[in-house]
Amino acid sequence: MLKCNDVASRASGLLDGELGTRSTLRLWLHLAICKGCRRFIRQMNVTNELVRQSGRAETPTSIEGEEARMDEILSQANGGGDQFGKP
Ligand SMILES: [Zn+2]
Repeated sequence: MLKCNDVASRASGLLDGELGTRSTLRLWLHLAICKGCRRFIRQMNVTNELVRQSGRAETPTSIEGEEARMDEILSQANGGGDQFGKP
């Protein structure tokens, strides 16, 4: 039977699908009975997902949207200034 330390050291391999069927099965067997390792794997999974997502988008889309909105506001402010200035 695997120990918690074994699960921790092989967790990244498991998530990347680098382990063989036997090792994967043993890990899953341990996870089935060990709540702590289930939580550990879940956290690793979440971290991996975050890393993958941040790697996919080099610049967050929210900042681009923010810049576009600022341009819009600035152009409106400039155009509006003329209208208010003239009678
Ligand atoms: Zn464990």
